[in-house]
Amino acid sequence: MTIMSNILNHNEVFVGENQYEDYKTTKFPDKKIVILTCMDTRLLELLPKAMGLRNGDAKIIKNAGAVVSHPFGSIMRSILVAIYELKAEEVFVVGHHGCGMVGLQSDSILKSARSKGVPPEKFETLKHAGIDLSSWLTGFSCVEESVKSSSHRIKNHPLMPEGIPVHGMVIHPETGKLDLVEDGYHMTRETPSSFKKEVQA
Ligand SMILES: [Zn+2]
Repeated sequence: MTIMSNILNHNEVFVGENQYEDYKTTKFPDKKIVILTCMDTRLLELLPKAMGLRNGDAKIIKNAGAVVSHPFGSIMRSILVAIYELKAEEVFVVGHHGCGMVGLQSDSILKSARSKGVPPEKFETLKHAGIDLSSWLTGFSCVEESVKSSSHRIKNHPLMPEGIPVHGMVIHPETGKLDLVEDGYHMTRETPSSFKKEVQA
């Protein structure tokens, strides 16, 4: 039995027995929040429980590391959609201790890609196209700094409306304990010129 057929078999029972009824809600977050967090498996159920969230309470965006790595990438777009279209009023960036993105080096990913058969000329083609794989595939050195940096990037985005608090937290992946690293109620926006510099960098 494949992984996919296992999932489909489960799904047939889930739908057939109306188990979905326990999860009925709307697309609008009841707690009016949007959370950016990491795709780490340990957080799948732990994070919502640790934050007191049920189905329907929050918009949750996930990627590797809970990072906004580009001001006009899909993560920032999702946050803006949550605010403007789905009535989110506060943003939470929640990194975690023991994150695989801490200390991640592009070398190990590229080496693994080569060993799985990605031909060397593909790396050359990307290089000639101006794609900097080593910076794109590199993680961060400190989760607290990364959370702060992403929080500020969101807060200072030119399309962010005034008055939306952006909080930064780090969660423990075993106990679920949350450490506050950025209190969004007291964060002020930077001047537009500093953002302009960042975009140009
Ligand atoms: Zn992680």
